[in-house]
Parts: sequence; structure tokens; C-alpha cells
Amino acid sequence: MSSPSVTDAELLAYLDEMLAPDRAALVEKELRASSTLRQQAHILARRRDQGGHSVGEIWRRERLSCLTRSQLGSYLLGTLDSGLHAYIDFHLQTVGCRICAANLRDLEASQQRTDGHSQLRRRKFFESSAGLLSNR
Ligand SMILES: [Zn+2]
Repeated sequence: MSSPSVTDAELLAYLDEMLAPDRAALVEKELRASSTLRQQAHILARRRDQGGHSVGEIWRRERLSCLTRSQLGSYLLGTLDSGLHAYIDFHLQTVGCRICAANLRDLEASQQRTDGHSQLRRRKFFESSAGLLSNR
């Protein structure tokens, strides 16, 4: 039985532990079931170790390149054009890129921190204004 559902890029990403956990579990299952796939993984790993076949190169070739933090920031704000927005959805949800997912979580957390700060500033401003008013 061949395993058309697992691509070379995914195999390499799996070897480098860059696949999303549920996708990695699937690849693992396929690997257990298929000696052909195991052999393929072995060949890929050997080629990669010899250089010239890194995950980065394969991902670039398959246009699965990662996103910059500013692209991810715009994605969070919803200010991207729909094409890039769809690509980021694909990259995060279908490809399950852990690096970009971690970057996105980080950006989300820092945006929430910023929101928290400005809320606090507004509240302080309001309280001090209220204080001024009640002193009159
Ligand atoms: Zn990525």
C-alpha cells in the first residue's frame, strides 16, 4: 500500500518535529503501516544530513514558506488582503507550522498586554477626572 497522503515535505517536517501534533500522529501511523514510507523517510533523512535537502529548501520549493512577524501581526489585526490571509490560514491550519503558531501566540499575548495597559490608562484617567469632579 502506498501512502499518497504523506508528502516528502511532511515527512521531513515530521523528522524535524515541525509538524502539528495531530498531523505528526497521522504520519507516525502511516510510517508504522508502510515499509515503503519508512524507506522514503530514511532516504530523505540521509539526503538532508548530506545537505541540499533541508526542510527549508523543500518548503520553499513547495511554497510553504513561513511568515514574518509583521505579516502575522497584520493577520491578527485583520488588515491583510484576502489572498495572504487565506495563505496564512492554510499555513497555520493545514500545514500546522509550529514556528508560526508560536509566533502568533506570542503576538496575541503581547497585543493583549498592550490592550490591558491602555484599559488601565483609561481607567486611571477616568478615576482622576472623577476625583477632580467630586472635589469641587
Ligand atoms: Zn511557518
